[in-house]
Amino acid sequence: MQDSTQVFKLIKAGRLIDGMGGPPIQDGAVLVQDSRIIAAGPVGEVVAPEGATVETYDYPGKTVMPGMIDCHTHHNGFGDGRPGEDVAALPDEVITLQAARNARDSLFSGVTSIRDNGAKNMTMFRLREAVNLGIIQAPRMVLCGRPIAIVGGHMGYFGSEVTGPVEATAAVRQLIKEGADYIKMSATGGSTRTSFPLLPAFTLDELKAMTSEAHKFGKLTATHCASTQGTIDSLDAGVDMIIHCVFKDADGKANFREDVAERIGAQGAYVNPTIHTARATVWSLQRRKEAQGLSAQEQARLDESLWELEVRWTHLARLIEMGLKIITGSDSSWSSYKLGNTVYETECLVQAGMSPMKGIVSITSDAAKSLGIDSVTGSLEPGKAADVIIVDGNPAEDINALWNIAEVFLGGQKVDRGPESVLAGIRQHPPISRPESSIETALEARH
Ligand SMILES: [Zn+2]
Repeated sequence: MQDSTQVFKLIKAGRLIDGMGGPPIQDGAVLVQDSRIIAAGPVGEVVAPEGATVETYDYPGKTVMPGMIDCHTHHNGFGDGRPGEDVAALPDEVITLQAARNARDSLFSGVTSIRDNGAKNMTMFRLREAVNLGIIQAPRMVLCGRPIAIVGGHMGYFGSEVTGPVEATAAVRQLIKEGADYIKMSATGGSTRTSFPLLPAFTLDELKAMTSEAHKFGKLTATHCASTQGTIDSLDAGVDMIIHCVFKDADGKANFREDVAERIGAQGAYVNPTIHTARATVWSLQRRKEAQGLSAQEQARLDESLWELEVRWTHLARLIEMGLKIITGSDSSWSSYKLGNTVYETECLVQAGMSPMKGIVSITSDAAKSLGIDSVTGSLEPGKAADVIIVDGNPAEDINALWNIAEVFLGGQKVDRGPESVLAGIRQHPPISRPESSIETALEARH
């Protein structure tokens, strides 16, 4: 019988993008042995050992590139606008199944690694057990388990509310015991009804205790920051990734703080802007308006959401101009944004000023670096896992080509994605009229 490790896969395509930002290579190839990449480059230079058995996959006119990495997901979510409180009220068994469905949708869309940013109880650890048993397929998962919150704080309903540095430290240790790969903290309130998005949540002592405890065990940290003081406290505590990075003062005024942005850059923290989740809220209200009209209250919410989106998007443009380390993290399936649609977030980054190639890097190698998994995945390099996608089109010219995924390989195995109808059902479409188009025009005018 043939030794399966001696069977190579040669994946050829009209164009190769390695995920590290260099120009695309015409007629590229990736050589895979078992689950790993052996070689990648121009097709003439990528050759299997003499006498080896080679399965060849040929995609003329298409692009081969690393699988996408979504640095911010909520696999418990539904993406249908329901509040987090309602998700948390569902039985763990039900939301674990929802997480499995979301994992499938994400993988089918070309996302081969995800970082979940907070789930209820043990649901995501249980999902990973099921994946390891081969029950379901899912992208590689970087998990925090539950986000850590103050009493009544953002996402505290998922099961980890703490008071004081001692409890905060204990929560970090408990999560690491359960299998957490990194620690997520809600540094400010958020959509959680009992929380205060414009105010810091933890004391600095609490934040420092959690961050240093996580770092002691070699775990990265990330904080939800819906207002500026949360970001400042996170920087004081040495947090590795600032999520949302909303520049708002305690009175709710939008106020871009260049000094704070400079500190983020100086400390080398990553920023995960989550713009599309704000746009998805706008889109869902707009859809409702088209279908049945809006009440005065809903119209006011739409106006508010449009203002919010415009502020966030213009602040993002400034962060990009300043050269900060910005990665793609969708925040789906939170709010009205469904998993399997990560590309919308990268499109927002590109519209705010990233080149399409930089957008690709933000969802491949930079994403992997920000999660600490760059020795495993995120680029087409020898020794990395063979997480490879085939894209119909050239995403280095048009980032929206990333919607057109022709094939997905996870760890060298071709993923059976079923019929087109399954894939079509995953995609969320914009409303007929896109009310934020004036924002897009304004942003384009900046560049
Ligand atoms: Zn989130």
